[in-house]
Amino acid sequence: MQNQNNEPKFEILHMPPENTNSVLVSVGDDAVIFDPWGHPESWQNLIEQRGLKLRAIYITHGHSDHISSAPKLATEYDVPWYMNHADNDLVMWGNQLLDFFQIPRIEPGYRQPTDIGAGTREILHGVKMDVIETPGHSAGGLTFYFPDFGILLTGDTLFRDCVGRCDLPGGDENTLKQSISKIYEMGLPDSTYVVHGHGIDSTIEILKKQNPYFE
Ligand SMILES: [Zn+2]
Repeated sequence: MQNQNNEPKFEILHMPPENTNSVLVSVGDDAVIFDPWGHPESWQNLIEQRGLKLRAIYITHGHSDHISSAPKLATEYDVPWYMNHADNDLVMWGNQLLDFFQIPRIEPGYRQPTDIGAGTREILHGVKMDVIETPGHSAGGLTFYFPDFGILLTGDTLFRDCVGRCDLPGGDENTLKQSISKIYEMGLPDSTYVVHGHGIDSTIEILKKQNPYFE
């Protein structure tokens, strides 16, 4: 069956064990995944059950709770996984966290990510995405903005009430502050829907009112 609805669709997915906000963008059967947390088999089941054709994977930053399924899915479906190269060293570093969650480790020889930096690109059938470099939580942190849909994915740079930690490898407090200013200074509409790496979603209006770091 062909999916007749070709309107781009954005879905926030909480794959078990619930921890991270993953995002699935689809147009018809074609799909792109952001931050595929969880067990690769969960994603494969979802993809097969829904008959999706995975086209690419995008990563806000290289911590294991955002990339756990990326190398495996990239290999399985022969698609690129895009991540800023400054986070390449974090890929294996996070394996202990995966042990804790009983998710398969990323093994040596994993499929390498494709570097991505600032710029605008079309990710799927007319869906345009601005990539903003927002280091500080990690060295290669990225924020993704979809201007035609008013949706912003901040990863762990910014949360509804606070900001990401900067005490992990590659983290830096001043850099994080500058990155948050960069997002603030984009002057996005108040109604912009903001999906964070963890926790409850917000809007630019909510961030202005509730998040003391958003300035
Ligand atoms: Zn993180």
